[in-house]
Amino acid sequence: MSRTVFILGAGTSKLAGAPLMHEFLDVADDLMHAKGPGETYDDFELVFKGINALRPAYANANVDLSNNIESVFAAFEMARLIRQLGNLTDQEIDGLPKAMRRVIEQTLEKTIQLPVSGEQVLPPRPYQDFADLLKNISKPGDRNPNTASVLTFNYDLCIDYALHFNSIRSNYCLESGATGGLKLLKLHGSLNWAQCPKCSKVTAWRMDQFFSGRNWTLWPETKQVPLNIASQIKQYNHCAGASAEEPFVVPPTWNKTEYHHVLQPVWQAAINELREAEYIIVFGYSLPPTDQFFRFLYALGTVGEVRLKRFCVFDPNTEVENRFKELLGPVVKDRFVFRRMGFQNAISEFNQFLPK
Ligand SMILES: [Zn+2]
Repeated sequence: MSRTVFILGAGTSKLAGAPLMHEFLDVADDLMHAKGPGETYDDFELVFKGINALRPAYANANVDLSNNIESVFAAFEMARLIRQLGNLTDQEIDGLPKAMRRVIEQTLEKTIQLPVSGEQVLPPRPYQDFADLLKNISKPGDRNPNTASVLTFNYDLCIDYALHFNSIRSNYCLESGATGGLKLLKLHGSLNWAQCPKCSKVTAWRMDQFFSGRNWTLWPETKQVPLNIASQIKQYNHCAGASAEEPFVVPPTWNKTEYHHVLQPVWQAAINELREAEYIIVFGYSLPPTDQFFRFLYALGTVGEVRLKRFCVFDPNTEVENRFKELLGPVVKDRFVFRRMGFQNAISEFNQFLPK
């Protein structure tokens, strides 16, 4: 038996249209300036007002926040704590983190398009290939002892839709002890998750729930469609009569203490997966120097007996190789493999690293 854990980062949704983290705010800015008649971009305007108010701070602190969404999100949360940011009112400061979530939601919904073929809406490239790979490794229901799970830092729904499209049940592990299905652990939240305003639980508006009773409107000339679950999240109720205003996504910074109590089952499940993993395969996650979260998670997950046989990283950027080498302890270092390639090619190359 083998246990394979896939780790996905922003690079895996690049082909589907999603901006990378360092491009995110530029893309959001372009969307705001290209707004059509009748469209409102209040949240975008507030976010960019906040970013402008941060500018003097960058000049003094020699950190570039201007196009780094991680730092901006963190700075907004800090501003809310100390209730001070340029000439913004208290109300505006309070609204920044929420506005940021909506900007993330709308930017991803507008940039990621699902391709249409005939009357079918397909998963975006190359997620169908990835779903095939997952099916090959862990065919459910037969005597195949191999398992696969997916840890992802992405908020978008590309993988969720690919699994749904292929009738693979996903398990977000939002509740401790949730069993069955392919573990899909979204460490920073997801565009189809919401925190219930009544009971504070974070729950998922599952794809099968969303699509029951809903159909795509497809015309013969329709080539692609957006998957706009997040912008309809108000229609999802956990407790009767209570609905969240925006999806549950958390800043990609290490200080996640504010979210700890609700995301704990997900992070715990991720640690367990890393601990049991024989194969860890990283696609499109560049281990940014600012992301201490994954470093801690990995360290906690690999304490004790090492079962790991291979740690493979596929990334088009060679700098990423050294970052991972620094992360891995001496025991794992000789099991490390780096291949300079993107997600699409990596999927086809991948099979040679698996056990025969
Ligand atoms: Zn509730």
